[in-house]
Amino acid sequence: MATLPCPGCHGDGYFIHTGGPGYFDRSFGNYLPSETEVPCESCDGFGEVEGCDTCDSTAHLCICTEDERYQAATEASL
Ligand SMILES: [Zn+2]
Ligand SMILES: [Zn+2]
Repeated sequence: MATLPCPGCHGDGYFIHTGGPGYFDRSFGNYLPSETEVPCESCDGFGEVEGCDTCDSTAHLCICTEDERYQAATEASL
């Protein structure tokens, strides 16, 4: 099973959410928005997802049937 970079987070595994109350940064001398790392739900924070060997799309987008995938796997191993 091939792995592909997650299409949701582009391989980062998380999103940066800016906002919230922010904090006072002494070096900048003003308030900066707080940044929160939110794990990507599509890949559970891994940054990559299982891909289909047959059509090269992620398992989530794959439209191949079990038969097609089985056939491709069999041909590949010949
Ligand atoms: Zn992701
Ligand atoms: Zn497929």
